[in-house]
Amino acid sequence: MQPVINLLVQLQELIIARAQQEAGMPGAQLDQLDSSIASLKKEIPSEVGLQFSRLLQKGPLAIVPVVNGVCTACGMSLPVSLVHQVHAAEKIYQCPACARLLFHRASSARNTRKAPRRSDPPKVGIERFSAEPLMIPALKGTDRDSILAEMCQKLADEGFVDDAGKLLESALKREAIISTAVENGLAFPHVRSIEGGALTLALGIAPKGIKFDPAGKANTRVVFFMVIPTAASAFYLKLLSGLAQVFQKEENRDKLLEADSTEKLWKALMKTTRLVIQ
Ligand SMILES: [Zn+2]
Repeated sequence: MQPVINLLVQLQELIIARAQQEAGMPGAQLDQLDSSIASLKKEIPSEVGLQFSRLLQKGPLAIVPVVNGVCTACGMSLPVSLVHQVHAAEKIYQCPACARLLFHRASSARNTRKAPRRSDPPKVGIERFSAEPLMIPALKGTDRDSILAEMCQKLADEGFVDDAGKLLESALKREAIISTAVENGLAFPHVRSIEGGALTLALGIAPKGIKFDPAGKANTRVVFFMVIPTAASAFYLKLLSGLAQVFQKEENRDKLLEADSTEKLWKALMKTTRLVIQ
């Protein structure tokens, strides 16, 4: 069943990419994604396809990786025998708790962000997802790949993920499906299905602008890089559309572009997102 499982994973990625494109860029051209989705669907046996669509009606994820013996969607520790069966992939198995289809995945970069201490004041707004050390007011890179490498390294250096190399590899794979660059000089690169931790956002500014989408003409200057645990997938789309809404306004983008230190960039991000992201 491995080839069918691979198709399902790929199909789900495309469906999610489509939702992201809609959330981040209202009125986006979706034709290319729609035709890829339609042709993938044709390759999937109808019974599995039906089960997959029914699960998608309940939530954004129908097939999820088992990592370290745990269903990454609901967090249930699976029986060892089931973990082996999922790995062998002679058929497609479901999580006994959440019913999602399961596939085996080798370990990926891990989110190592520390849980807040009880004594810490509760965080609100963008502070729930980001922090001043993750602000880069002047990215050094001059193309997409070097900028992504720089942001992955930042997330690792500041103790938010354990492996910058694996994170970069996943981010580039996502860019290969369809570019995350949108209008108004914005880009929303991300890595989904990360293990553990919480949704985490880094912000980088490319003062002169770069060509983030190799096929596009847009000049990207503001890059939001997000690391998304499987369980936060639905929430991520809300955050994405909130950011897109705030920063399609030029006055808000200008506040980020004017910041010349990590401290000023962090303050500008908190101020501009205060009303929309709560
Ligand atoms: Zn589950």
